Parts: sequence; C-alpha cells; structure tokens
Amino acid sequence: MQWIIGIVGCLFIFSAQAQLLKDIQELSADNMQGRKTGSDGTELARQFIAQRFEKLQLGAFNTSYLQMFNYGFGQHKTGTNVVGYQRGCTYPEHYIVVTAHYDHLGNEGKNIFHGADDNASGVAALLELASRLSERCSAYSYIFIATDAEENGLYGSKAFVSSPSVPLGNITLNLNLDMIGRPDRRGRLYLTGAKRYPALIALLAQQFSYLQYLPHRGPGQGLRSLPRYDWPNASDHGPFHRAGIPYLFFGGQDHRDYHTPNDTWQNIEPEFLEQAMQAIWHTVQWLEQQAPQSLQAPN
Ligand SMILES: [Zn+2]
Repeated sequence: MQWIIGIVGCLFIFSAQAQLLKDIQELSADNMQGRKTGSDGTELARQFIAQRFEKLQLGAFNTSYLQMFNYGFGQHKTGTNVVGYQRGCTYPEHYIVVTAHYDHLGNEGKNIFHGADDNASGVAALLELASRLSERCSAYSYIFIATDAEENGLYGSKAFVSSPSVPLGNITLNLNLDMIGRPDRRGRLYLTGAKRYPALIALLAQQFSYLQYLPHRGPGQGLRSLPRYDWPNASDHGPFHRAGIPYLFFGGQDHRDYHTPNDTWQNIEPEFLEQAMQAIWHTVQWLEQQAPQSLQAPN
C-alpha cells in the first residue's frame, strides 16, 4: 500500500499544478504572516523565492538576487525586490521582464491576510515560468522580479523602472501576473495590454473561453461593468507602461475574499489556476516566436 501511495504521490508532486499549489500553500502559510513589506514574513518569502532562483541557476545582477529600495514620504521605508535573469539565445539584448508581487497586507492580531490568490498565485506562476524557460535556451532574455511593496503603491516596480538592471530601451515587454488562482466575481481572468497583439488574442480565444480581453484604457473609461477600474495602474505593469514599455497583464479584479483573511490556499481553484497557467505559457511561447520590433506595435 505504501508504495502505491508513494507512486501516486510522486505523479502528483511532479505535475505543474501540484507544484503551483505547493508554492501557493508555502507562500501563504501562517509563518509568512501575510507578507507585509518590512516584516519577518516577507523575509521568509524572499528566502523561499531566492532559493528557487538559485536552484534554477538564474543569474543575479550585482551578485545578489535581492535589490533593496527606499520609498514613501522622505524615502524612510525600505522594500526588497527579488530579481533573477536568464540570457536568451536569439535576442539576448532584448529582455522580457516577468513581474509578480510577493508582498501582501500582513495581519491584524490573529487575523492573517494570507494573500494566496493576491499574490502567492502570481509568484508561483512566475517560478513555474522560470523553471520551464530554464529547460532550454529561450529566444529572449528574461528578468524575473518578485516585487515588494506593491500593495501600498507599486513601489517595487517603480523602483526597478527608475533604476533598472538593464537599460529601459532593452526591455521589450513586461508580463505581469497578479491574482491568477481563482475567478473574480464575474468568473473571469483578465488579460490587458493585448490589444496591440490581435494574433495573440485570436490564439488564446480559441482555447481559453473564460479569459476576457480588456481594452487598454484609463480611469473611468473601462467596460460598462467595470466603470472605475483603472487597469493600466492596477498592478506592477503600471510603471512599465508609463515608461513606454508594452505590457501584458494577467489578473483578476476582485472576488469575495479579496483583501480578507479568507484569501487562503484552500480557496484557490486548482482547475482555474491550471488553465490560467496554460494561457500564460501559451502567451510566452507566442512571444518567443515574435521578433522584438513586432512587439512594439502601438496599443
Ligand atoms: Zn495584488
């Protein structure tokens, strides 16, 4: 019996879905204490992410994956991005920057805001992407950034864009992942920034019916059902967008457990997560086949 359990267990562990769930579970565990910027919980999350970067043999800028930055009034607060890279073979000077914030809201007394969907799910997907891309030489170079201090104002991505590890002109695209582990109130996962790539939308639309493609618009101009949602500034793709860098953002808007202690790994929907990961992977495979100039099409 033991060996049957062992074999079944191994098969499960080696599937991508199991790895994603395991990572979400670890990042949203009680000991991470809701991963509030500056807390011991974020330190644990950083160690977890940096160890995985090391295992995948990602490169580090300036010998460390950790990039500290100051932010806030008088710049008196400190955050730390976890940054690793992989050199590409076809377009080594062109970088696709994958971002997912690892910080969340912390805790209020015994109530821990676990942030399993927001955004352990995006970080898990970033790690999965890094793992898949490290299996062969990718066309593009990739920078993977688990950003800090997103929740209080996108400060991690702002810090990277204002002091980038490679010249901004070498960044071809930002792929941002934030809340991909369960459907939002409308049963959707959203993709924004894709209007400039109709071929990508056509490809994804064939396979992922729950994906909704939102036009890139500013506050007050969104879809009728989302009148005040400011997609370009909703998450870490915002600073890249303002710097004139194309972006693709996979994410949810909100759900009943959004920013509550009930955003737990138990409330992640494995099937949805798997589908989201597939859509993201299809997107990366599509990007890999496009020349850098063609990704600069106007939005
Ligand atoms: Zn988020």
